[in-house]
Amino acid sequence: MLIAGNWKMFKGPAAARAFFEGFEPPADVDVVFCPPFTSLEAALESGRTVYAQNVHWESQGPYTGEVSPEMLVELGVAGALVGHSERRQLFGETDEMVARRARTALDAGLGVIACVGETLEQRESGDTELVLKIQVEAIAFAAGDRENLVIAYEPVWAIGTGKTATPEQAEEAHAFIKGLLDRPVLYGGSVKPENAAELLSQPSIDGALVGGASLEPDSFAAICRAASTS
Ligand code: PEP
Repeated sequence: MLIAGNWKMFKGPAAARAFFEGFEPPADVDVVFCPPFTSLEAALESGRTVYAQNVHWESQGPYTGEVSPEMLVELGVAGALVGHSERRQLFGETDEMVARRARTALDAGLGVIACVGETLEQRESGDTELVLKIQVEAIAFAAGDRENLVIAYEPVWAIGTGKTATPEQAEEAHAFIKGLLDRPVLYGGSVKPENAAELLSQPSIDGALVGGASLEPDSFAAICRAASTS
């Protein structure tokens, strides 16, 4: 089981260090932290596995505000998220950009958690599988047989909203994604200590990508414990 915490634009270096003082997960769960860029070094001091929240597809160049895979590797960062729905929705990231980010990060030796998921409108109009197919196939085509790629299924309507996909809805989407690409698939969308065990017990759910509930050491450790026992 892999449990990843996406801190989004929360926690500077001091808050990141404070988090790790109180965080005690079970030993048999792989835990990944995705802090903001300025807190990567502080998170690395904890000895935990650290991923960036995004990564560019070029090694260097005139790309103001971006960070390259090589820069992350030099820092000791182990991987990166790509295609988070907040990047897609708020910053105009396309499937092509997400796929290019994934491919060059994998080539640089980084692990990649690539996020996919439908909006509420797409789900209600019956287009969930169409959307997932387009998103997953772009990533799969770019990644080829490169290893160290994990997909995160994050229905956009469940992120930060308190609405969680039912275990059945999540399982159905995960099974569909696995039929397109044989990689581990994490579930993300309002995962909390109270709902983690049931979601993680589904056969096609290989872990979780956790936003809000990863910000507190106790709640994130509780989700990690749910992964340990499921
Ligand atoms: C996320 O940011 O990837 C996420 C799933 O957020 P939350 O758990 O807060 O819904």
